[in-house]
Amino acid sequence: MSQPSGELILKGINASPGICIGKAYLVDKEGVDIVARYYIEKKKRQGEIKRFKAAVKRARDEIRSVIDASPEELQRAHILETHLALLKDKMLYGKTIEIIETDGINAEWALKQVVSNLKAVFLGMADSYLKERASDIVHVSDSIMRNLVGAKAEKIADIDKRVILVARDLSPADTSQINLEKIMGFITDRGGKASHTGIVAQALEIPAVVGLKYATSRIKSDNLIIVDGNAGKVIVNPDEKSLVEYEERKIDYEQYRAVITRESHLSAETTDGIQMEVMANIELPEEVVSVKNYGGDGIGLYRTEFQYMNRTIFPSEEELFEKYKDVVEVMAPKPVTIRTLDINGDKAVANQNGQDEANPALGLRSIRYCLRKPDVFITQLRAILRAAAYGNVRILFPMISAYFEICEAKKLLDQAAESLEKEGLSYNREIEIGIMIEVPSAVVLADFLADKADFFSIGTNDLIQYALAIDRLNPHVAHLYQPLDPAVIRLVKQVADVAKNKGIEVYMCGEMAATAHHIPLLLGIGLDELSMNPQSIPHIKRVIRSLSLSDAQTFMQEVLNKRTARGVFGVLKEAYGEILNNRY
Ligand code: PEP
Ligand code: MG
Repeated sequence: MSQPSGELILKGINASPGICIGKAYLVDKEGVDIVARYYIEKKKRQGEIKRFKAAVKRARDEIRSVIDASPEELQRAHILETHLALLKDKMLYGKTIEIIETDGINAEWALKQVVSNLKAVFLGMADSYLKERASDIVHVSDSIMRNLVGAKAEKIADIDKRVILVARDLSPADTSQINLEKIMGFITDRGGKASHTGIVAQALEIPAVVGLKYATSRIKSDNLIIVDGNAGKVIVNPDEKSLVEYEERKIDYEQYRAVITRESHLSAETTDGIQMEVMANIELPEEVVSVKNYGGDGIGLYRTEFQYMNRTIFPSEEELFEKYKDVVEVMAPKPVTIRTLDINGDKAVANQNGQDEANPALGLRSIRYCLRKPDVFITQLRAILRAAAYGNVRILFPMISAYFEICEAKKLLDQAAESLEKEGLSYNREIEIGIMIEVPSAVVLADFLADKADFFSIGTNDLIQYALAIDRLNPHVAHLYQPLDPAVIRLVKQVADVAKNKGIEVYMCGEMAATAHHIPLLLGIGLDELSMNPQSIPHIKRVIRSLSLSDAQTFMQEVLNKRTARGVFGVLKEAYGEILNNRY
């Protein structure tokens, strides 16, 4: 929307926190959108396939040279390695060649067709992480396409001014070239919270806003812009007042981060002496570095899906073991909670020949998939048990919605241990076993489930979606997705009460735990541990240190009388206004 002063405010998704102010630099992506279609005679088809293969090879060489030249923080994200693998993926590479051969379509058009089908498959998935992987397919095919049509790639490494990048989308190959001396931050039209672009921005610790839709059409190179990565906002051609305000905010924010990062190694102890563990959620083993930097008390959720993505065969036990062991060793003696595979059906990973599901979120997802594929599951369980010999491991089973599921999962865990024993491999079966509580039926059955577990971990991202019947990815109902809904609060409290009665620990690893103004509630409810993205840890620890547990418990009585999310927010504001006022 345009302001009277002439400044323009664009709203997007906050992908990486921080504020930067500077000149825009529009990254132009040439020659990828417009593609001709023509027929290839039979005798010329092998030549066309050769042309395609040569373009793939050039794309491969390009990515290789970017990998070799990238800083270590980015190499550790392995995203480009994934892209290299995708270039030769059967569904992309093999299928394009097949179409050229059988239908006689030129390479560009065949590739375009294959990509649009693959994209649809990924976008149809329930899991936000998998959905975002559609963009990896697009980035990879863009680089092949550029090489096919002979267009030049914009080289971000060559930018020699201090600027903020503005692009429709940035591929990992683009972001990997970011020179921190030059690039202050970036904004994109496309992308969501779980996009690799965001992951890379966080790894580099530069501000980023994605999903802006119109940034490239509203911003020109050299326009002055303010990027507010905390609020997911961009101000184009800011007026004097905004400039002064944001200069101050920037300084303020940087000072605040420095202070809280320095004190993040202190424990999160309330003013009345109760200690809360503040743990980290990670997806990549390499994120342990941030966990340590930000004072994480351990890893409360290690999402293990990443290693199964974008590849044609499942990872081997050895590969999984090595990755888990690395994390476990670095974190020891602090705990590492390894969550077993949470994917939504075999079409999502290797051998993408599964049937499409009308409701993937309600489908063959997560533990249901693992129980259907015991060989895949046991491979992972064996790797986890082996890694457990090297430190402090907890295992966490996701999406448990029925009692028999945890019984079967534990049976398979025993089988995995028995087979390791027989083979004489070292392992540790004496690990804590946890259940994610993220389906309402698990809340209802919590007392039974508690008999089978050492701890519960509440996954509010899913629990809210299933309890309130709101697709967590659907923008049309995003306003109804309310962690403060009294129904959600009651569910969380019910789980915590059962856990206390049964003498087991209760944790939370959904996003609800990463929001400062939810903390008085979560303390009052009696959670023992919170887990969140590493960057949020310092702030949440500081908030906990400013609260008293007994006040929070008294406050909960008031909360439980409120009938709407708005009502809950109202009392929160009254009692804990200071936390709400902190804009970070
Ligand atoms: C959750 O559902 O809250 C959770 C932590 O798991 P994920 O976001 O991976 O589904
Ligand atoms: Mg979940």
